[in-house]
Amino acid sequence: MLTQNYDEVLNNIKAACDKVGRNYDEVTLIAVSKTKPLSDIEQLISHGVNEYGENKVQELVDKYENVSKPVNWHLIGHLQTNKVKYIVDKAKLIHSVDSFHLAKEIDKEAKKKNVVAEILIQVNIAHEDTKFGINENDVYELLNQIKDLHNVKVRGLMTIAPFVENAEENRVHFRNLYQLLLDIKSKNIDNIDMSILSMGMTNDYMVAIEEGATMVRVGTGIFGERNYNI
Ligand SMILES: *Cc1c(COP(=O)(O)O)cnc(C)c1O
Repeated sequence: MLTQNYDEVLNNIKAACDKVGRNYDEVTLIAVSKTKPLSDIEQLISHGVNEYGENKVQELVDKYENVSKPVNWHLIGHLQTNKVKYIVDKAKLIHSVDSFHLAKEIDKEAKKKNVVAEILIQVNIAHEDTKFGINENDVYELLNQIKDLHNVKVRGLMTIAPFVENAEENRVHFRNLYQLLLDIKSKNIDNIDMSILSMGMTNDYMVAIEEGATMVRVGTGIFGERNYNI
């Protein structure tokens, strides 16, 4: 069942790419496994799936240590500075950096472990009070601070779009974030790479791909509904 769901999402990704003439190799599907058991992940690993997303540090670390074969872990949830040390060498990509304070801590811990941490800047593109992420007007200031950190590498942008009934309502936000990415790219800032655009979840990933996403984060569409009470 999980593997069928996964393949269906992949087919939808292909269809969205075809619709706008994009090459579907440009899009990475991240299976968001938060709250789901290792047995689910193992089924997908047997199916050849290598990219997993978690939003809690402890859960990522537990799964990282217990899967049968090494896979790539994406930290997609809010990260507190005091937890950076647990994941800086375990997460392939940290999607949720939205302050210099956090970037500095990642740099410090990455240096201790002799790694370069790859990160995305989380942008609150729809200006929702309830969401983490930096306002797009503050992105340049943050990038100009981060560019001098040696053990952090910015790879692109991420956003969590509003929860909407109709995915089309989010098109404008995805389009705005893509424009911001192009604008940053055109400035050629040292040590700032803009090759990754992480946007789109179960309800809206096809629209996000049409608007330029290179990473989509799909949980429910692969694993089914989550139960937070168990
Ligand atoms: C939970 C989560 C997702 C996946 O959400 P679904 O709607 O289940 O696909 C994607 N991104 C982030 C940041 C999340 O926390």
